Amino acid sequence: MPVYHDEGVILRTQDLGEADRIVTILTASHGKVRAVARGVRREKSRFGARLEPFMRSDLLIATGRSLDVVSQAAVIMPYARAICVDYNSYLAASAIAQTADKLHADPQHNTAWRAVNPTSSRPDGQYRLLIGALGALASRLHTPLTIAYSYVLRAMAQAGWLPRLGSCVVCGTADCTYFSVQGGGTMCAVHQLPGSHSVSADSVKQLQALLEGDWGFLDSAQALDNCVGAIIEEWSEYYVERPIRSLRLLHSMI
Ligand SMILES: [Zn+2]
Repeated sequence: MPVYHDEGVILRTQDLGEADRIVTILTASHGKVRAVARGVRREKSRFGARLEPFMRSDLLIATGRSLDVVSQAAVIMPYARAICVDYNSYLAASAIAQTADKLHADPQHNTAWRAVNPTSSRPDGQYRLLIGALGALASRLHTPLTIAYSYVLRAMAQAGWLPRLGSCVVCGTADCTYFSVQGGGTMCAVHQLPGSHSVSADSVKQLQALLEGDWGFLDSAQALDNCVGAIIEEWSEYYVERPIRSLRLLHSMI
């Protein structure tokens, strides 16, 4: 079997048979990969915790006919250790990993891509965003909620769904008191669509700061407005076209 080498973050795992697991990984330069880790659930597995969710590992993967197989794994950054001991960080990391999972095409689509680009080694922007967010959570750099929401907005924007903030989507006026997910951003009272969220200038500023990663503002601000979480949750689910359960849980718990 041909093998390829890459680093990646484990997004989720799923038990397979008696001792194996299917591991979903966002890799630095091979997109999203699903691979079997054989024997990983045995007590003395050679993989140890290296293939647990939120681990960033260096991987050697063999290309299989239906699923790839992880043949070697070494830890680069054990984000999971610091994240899993704090419940809010764990919730935030789950929302981040689930969003990354849903945002990326299923792996069968990139088998052809892999064949065409076997030597691509530049980590893509989505991967850099993901390791940035998990690293910030593990180091307790900011509150888990702001890290997760900032990640989701930025990952969505990078995937092509950048919300318009601060001026009306239709007429461009700066006097916006609504945010419409379907409309693509902030709207004035005249053009707002049914189902829009009512937003204050502060809420829009918070969304802008999350999108730009303006941590100076976010770290000194009071708690995020409730509508900010609701907008981010709806924004991602609307454009990804699937529910992101961890994001809903995050919004209701923190
Ligand atoms: Zn308008």
